[in-house]
Amino acid sequence: MLLKSSPEVICDMMYQDVCRILRMFGVRCALIAEDWRILREAVEHGALVLTDDTALAARLREYGVRVLAGRERIPLLRAVFKKLGRAPVFPGLCVHCGGTLTKIAPGYWRCNQCGHLYWRGSHYKKILKLLEAVRRG
Ligand SMILES: [Zn+2]
Repeated sequence: MLLKSSPEVICDMMYQDVCRILRMFGVRCALIAEDWRILREAVEHGALVLTDDTALAARLREYGVRVLAGRERIPLLRAVFKKLGRAPVFPGLCVHCGGTLTKIAPGYWRCNQCGHLYWRGSHYKKILKLLEAVRRG
């Protein structure tokens, strides 16, 4: 699903998992498959791009687009927040569509865009651990 607001970060399909984490931590992140669309959207919105495609990365840099890549998840996430100049927040945005969340009850949030419901489940501690690891960077 597309973001309604302009993306700060664009991930290619290889970084689908990272895109979900970035949204979870409050980053307006778009997942885009086609190279031409990544290029167009990145130039239009001044977005940072995550891609392993070296040919695409070279083309993006020609247009002045910032590009990051890396297989190590935590250092990559730290690098993204450093480039954005801010710290991760949680809960941030809907991991499915990037929509904003509204707290509807203690420990419960709903996406304002797709209606997905979030709650403090078994994954919660793991997410906080990841958040701490990224913030330490
Ligand atoms: Zn949503």
